Amino acid sequence: MQVCQESLADAPILSGLQTSLFFESPAQIYARVFGELKPRTKPPAIRVEFRPFANADSSIRMTEAGLHVRVADVFEGAPAPVTEALAHILLGKLFRRPIARAYTHRYRLYLNRRDVRQRMHVVRQIRGRKFVSGPVGAHHHLEQIFEDLNARFFDGLMGRPLLGWSRGASRSMLGHFDPSHNAIIISRIFDTNRVPKLALEYVLFHEMLHLRYPVDHRGARRRVHTREFREAEKRFPLFREAKELLKRL
Ligand SMILES: [Zn+2]
Repeated sequence: MQVCQESLADAPILSGLQTSLFFESPAQIYARVFGELKPRTKPPAIRVEFRPFANADSSIRMTEAGLHVRVADVFEGAPAPVTEALAHILLGKLFRRPIARAYTHRYRLYLNRRDVRQRMHVVRQIRGRKFVSGPVGAHHHLEQIFEDLNARFFDGLMGRPLLGWSRGASRSMLGHFDPSHNAIIISRIFDTNRVPKLALEYVLFHEMLHLRYPVDHRGARRRVHTREFREAEKRFPLFREAKELLKRL
């Protein structure tokens, strides 16, 4: 239902589309969008290639040979309006032009489609190379901490995912739950005596909540920290103290 309403909201833009849209090849769509953005420039040779990426990333490059677009193969066979939206996004980025919200919205709607998400999930499982260094650190054993939290907050009922320390001591990515590999990765920055264990426990607890409360996909929205998630997170004792510790890492 959501999708129907969203596409109705897009109707004025859709009606403005050239009727040729559905008969164009991806390269022709890129050429047309190029012409819209740079009406005085003759469109270069354009090559659109679908690549087996592990995610939905796409890239665009202008070389002497022309425009080279590499699109994640999750977009192969996507409806023409989606290809058009992606063309606007990539060419807009290339030429540093503002990208109309209708296009980013349409692009996200497609990636949020259940069948597309399922395909990407499978693709990540097969292609994604996840570095998991194992749960045993120099100072902390992630499985022990997991089981302690599991007993305290989840009645010991949460199935244990893969647990591992990150390769580097990242400050920007303190923890990460990867549903495709059912793995929780914790930044090595916590594997020390210098940082109170409370901070590590809080980060692992947060990632465990991601396992418990999956991402909410509605329309073009993607809500990672749902209301239930936020409520559950507050059950962690010394919640504020833990968050303060993270600020001072
Ligand atoms: Zn989170």
